[in-house]
Amino acid sequence: MATYIFGHTTPDSDSIVGAIALSYLKQELGEDTIAVRQGEINPETAFILERFNFQAPELKTSFAGEDVYLVDFSDLAQSPADIKEANILGIVDHHKLGDITTSTPLECWIRPVGCSNTIIKQMFDYHNITIPKDIAGMMMCAILSDTVIYKSPTSTKEDTKACKELADIVGIEDFKALGMEMFIVKSNVLSATKRELVLRDFKDFNMGQAKIGVGQLEVVDLSVFDNMKEELFEAMQQIKEEGERHTVLLLLTDIMVVGSQLLVLSDDGSKIEEAFNVKLENNQVWLDKVLSRKKQIIPFLEKLF
Ligand code: MG
Ligand code: MG
Ligand code: MG
Repeated sequence: MATYIFGHTTPDSDSIVGAIALSYLKQELGEDTIAVRQGEINPETAFILERFNFQAPELKTSFAGEDVYLVDFSDLAQSPADIKEANILGIVDHHKLGDITTSTPLECWIRPVGCSNTIIKQMFDYHNITIPKDIAGMMMCAILSDTVIYKSPTSTKEDTKACKELADIVGIEDFKALGMEMFIVKSNVLSATKRELVLRDFKDFNMGQAKIGVGQLEVVDLSVFDNMKEELFEAMQQIKEEGERHTVLLLLTDIMVVGSQLLVLSDDGSKIEEAFNVKLENNQVWLDKVLSRKKQIIPFLEKLF
């Protein structure tokens, strides 16, 4: 019976590439594994897959009775609905420890670095397995994406080291230029519906009694959102209601200026103001220097909820 490897719901590049790379490593180590995905491929990931000539993993959302490895998450809210009926063999992640538990011992590679693929690179090194060029290229892109080309406060020396070594394997010298090309692809938000935009990189968190959804769009120029705020709020409202969420936040992140416009829909907006020590105006506020949801947003919400 094959073991399935997958990342979080609404998968990002780290989740997709991480599943592919970890599956390759496990196969080299003699395990029977299959990389799968829990949701649609986003435009940035499509760009990466195309650049390195790779197929997207199959969609699979039910895992009852299956053996699984998880990549890039350990939160139930980002898991398949029947994760409690799956047998979790291992977790590779770089987020806060979530609320997933297991009934048997598991292999855990959880480290405070900027990207799951940095950890997977370290696993390849640990096992002394060579990384194929195409997979190395995709892993490099995943690291550039998650660390926002090293600008994110989550980025560490281990990420830059792993990324550089992966770039050497691929033979790409100006890998930061490729990273920038990727973010320009990511900045094309005009062809998607507002709902798709809010959900493109969206994560739910269970905080106390509250379910809080936080979306993020990282672009090279925030002016692309100038005439769509109202419609974004409408989409957020719908998503808030249908998921019975206490709060829906959307971070519009400018990776060049380095900061985020935070859009807020909440049953208690004063809690959000308290969390970030700000005053909301028209349900919005500019958060200077904020690039990272996991490091600069979630911990402050966790504290209050
Ligand atoms: Mg991720
Ligand atoms: Mg990640
Ligand atoms: Mg991200």
